[in-house]
Amino acid sequence: MKTPTNSRMVISFMGNLPTQTADRRRNGRGRLFVVSAPSGAGKSTLLERVRELFPEMLYSVSCTTRAPRTGEIDGVHYHFVSEAEFRRMIQEGRFLEWKEVHGNLYGTPAGPIEEAIASGRSIILDIDVEGAKEVFARMPSAVGIFINAPNLEVLEERLRRRGTDSEDAIRLRMRNAAIEMQSARLFQHRIVNADLVAAVDQLAGIIRQESEISL
Ligand code: ADP
Ligand code: 5GP
Repeated sequence: MKTPTNSRMVISFMGNLPTQTADRRRNGRGRLFVVSAPSGAGKSTLLERVRELFPEMLYSVSCTTRAPRTGEIDGVHYHFVSEAEFRRMIQEGRFLEWKEVHGNLYGTPAGPIEEAIASGRSIILDIDVEGAKEVFARMPSAVGIFINAPNLEVLEERLRRRGTDSEDAIRLRMRNAAIEMQSARLFQHRIVNADLVAAVDQLAGIIRQESEISL
């Protein structure tokens, strides 16, 4: 079960932006990291660890029409909105990208991304593969990171052990996983999350390495 301390904890873009982040020292611009994974691969677990390692990093809070899971907080893990509200936001052009994922609508609010980048801070998007493709097309300097489980059996076992999804939802997520894995090659970086500590090290290494690259 996801807890309020998971990867979607965050962000106030308006207040108290530190002026001495690593990004500012480097070149005054933040990097946009796009992390995707089949559901159950361990993306939330990895991002939660990365949050501890990179406290200056921002995390995009998506809008979704999905119902909150136990422990999820509106405005922290997601902005939980009605379908009517979501559709109004589409009409108003408020999303960098939006997609239907596993039967629900999810969208990345554009404003906070623009503010983060302009203020020299890096930001991580945790979005699905189709959304990631759209971000890569619109923002070619985005850094794509694909996280996978060692194989489909392990993925299914993790989804069941997590205990947050119905049997129908697990079946849908497994069907989608096979499709999502075919897009892994579109991401510059790929991590197989077998051993958690090794996977966290790898992800942290990628963030450090990419943060040193000037845009
Ligand atoms: P996602 O966010 O990709 O859907 P989660 O982070 O919720 O996936 O992880 C799914 C389940 O697998 C959780 O119960 C988590 O504790 C577990 N898990 C994550 N990484 C590993 C790992 N390397 N080894 C074993 N279990 C893991
Ligand atoms: P969950 O319902 O398990 O939180 O998320 C389901 C999937 O939706 C995950 O793959 C997650 O990365 C993706 N997702 C979350 N927010 C967004 C978003 O704003 N846009 C897109 N395209 N996918 C998202």
